Parts: sequence; C-alpha cells; structure tokens
Amino acid sequence: MELRNRLEKLEARQKAMAAEEIQRQKELHWMRCPKCGHQLSTQHHGAVEIDVCPSCRGLWLDANELETILANENGLFKSALKILGRR
Ligand SMILES: [Zn+2]
Repeated sequence: MELRNRLEKLEARQKAMAAEEIQRQKELHWMRCPKCGHQLSTQHHGAVEIDVCPSCRGLWLDANELETILANENGLFKSALKILGRR
C-alpha cells in the first residue's frame, strides 16, 4: 500500500513535469520562426491568416489554411476563365 502510494505520487509528479515542459517549450517557440528565431507577424489575406517572418520572409500556414487558399485560387481561376469565355 505504501509503495503503491509512492508510485502514484511519482507518476503524478512526472505528469506535472511533462506538462510544465510542454508549456515551457510552447512559450519559447510560440510565434517564433523555426528557421531564424525571429518573432512572426500575422498578415490577413482574405479569410486566411498567414504568419510571416520579417527576417527571412518565411511563411507559415495553420492547418487547413493552404486548402482555403487553393480553393479561393481555384475560384479566382474559374472566374477568370468565365470572363475569358471558357468553361
Ligand atoms: Zn525567419
């Protein structure tokens, strides 16, 4: 019983430490360029927010943002074809 208690406490401490480490890493890297470490700035392009590095000009997209951009591009492309009289 004593041993089990100690193991449970140890496990809880390890979980807390892992959560702390995840939080620490997030604070260190949040909105930082993975290439040069500069602070990223957010730019709005239509419905999509793109994180841009002002130093190396790298671009970062969140999940599904590329699909949104491509869908919009496709829409624009189709509109252009309609204007040109093709379908
Ligand atoms: Zn950068």
